Amino acid sequence: MNAPVSMPHVMPTYGRLPVALSHGEGARVWDTEGRRYLDALSGIAVNTLGHKHPRLVAALQDQVEKMIHCCNYYQVPLQEELASMLVERSGLTNVFFCNSGLEANEAALKIARKYGHDKGIDRAEVVVYEKAFHGRSIATLSATGNPKVHAGFEPLVEGFVRVPLNDIAALEEVARTRPNVTAVFLEVIQGEGGINPARAEYLQAVRALCDKQGWLLMLDEVQCGIGRTGKWFAHQWSGIQPDVMPLAKGLGSGVPIGAVVCGPKAANVLKPGNHGTTFGGNPLAMRAGVETLKTMEADGLMANAAAVGAHLMTALKRELGDLPGVKDIRGQGLMIGIELDRPCGVILSRALEAGLLLSVTADTVVRLLPPLIFTTAEADECVAILAPIVRTFLSETQA
Ligand SMILES: *Cc1c(COP(=O)(O)O)cnc(C)c1O
Repeated sequence: MNAPVSMPHVMPTYGRLPVALSHGEGARVWDTEGRRYLDALSGIAVNTLGHKHPRLVAALQDQVEKMIHCCNYYQVPLQEELASMLVERSGLTNVFFCNSGLEANEAALKIARKYGHDKGIDRAEVVVYEKAFHGRSIATLSATGNPKVHAGFEPLVEGFVRVPLNDIAALEEVARTRPNVTAVFLEVIQGEGGINPARAEYLQAVRALCDKQGWLLMLDEVQCGIGRTGKWFAHQWSGIQPDVMPLAKGLGSGVPIGAVVCGPKAANVLKPGNHGTTFGGNPLAMRAGVETLKTMEADGLMANAAAVGAHLMTALKRELGDLPGVKDIRGQGLMIGIELDRPCGVILSRALEAGLLLSVTADTVVRLLPPLIFTTAEADECVAILAPIVRTFLSETQA
């Protein structure tokens, strides 16, 4: 293992691995000791184009020389350019730009409350889900369905009703009993919660119930959106459309960015003065977003995510699917979880030692989120490194 990295002046909010990554190219990264790794994490679904994509690098260099930031007192043509691209690809109508996933979700929650107020509902409630993750601000951690994220930050923000995923009867019960509900808020595929997909029939039923009740359907695609599942947005596999769609992680390929894409029911809820951000929509972030989407198209990266993701899934199932201790291997495109029957956090450091970056989430799920440029050869290499680690781990430990 490399020399431990010491960060004594940084607040200890993360238990960090003793490695500092210095540079990357494609799906490869190098640490400060010169060791090379295969990146099957993309900085948690952020580096859509991998590292050092020549087209992104050139665009950002050009933009840095022109302008990084100007604030929202002025017209920002790059905002309109990226907004129109998101509108075209989603079939929705308008976009609000911010800087991160939690900010996009905060804006969505403000829309849900204001939408209620505009209809005369003073104490709006939003339906949220068990095992959901929506961010670390006080409101988004309250929406999150993980007691560890809540602990120590009570009192939580009120106005949330929690239901289990993929259980339409539970949502129908909410419709019968909670007159103040104004929106349903869920991830199409829960990421931090352990790669738990909302089933297509469930999403269709939720859409129908939202229409019947006059609720907004708000789909958090912060992690599963931007081509990762093989379509622009994960909900497009089910043929439905949301009213509100927060985006972030992969949209800027590494430059911080967030966006809330809205359809006609939600797009005019926030009026001048209702919401804002200093950094949000700055020219550098917008250029990163525009270039990410254009490059995804030019390089066929959604088709690649679907094909390489299917290849990776098949290989993982072949190598690990029948092992006692492997409960499930699931996901879509390049968003894959391997659920074990026991906590497996140590797999993160063992994979790192073996030259592979990945994550373990929800204690028992090995999560793969490679960049969308991943090749089948890199997928094979990933499995060749990971499968023996999982096998050894299972043989050494008990459920
Ligand atoms: C990561 C994530 C967030 C929070 O995004 P940040 O940029 O870390 O604030 C919200 N929702 C989902 C689904 C996420 O995966």
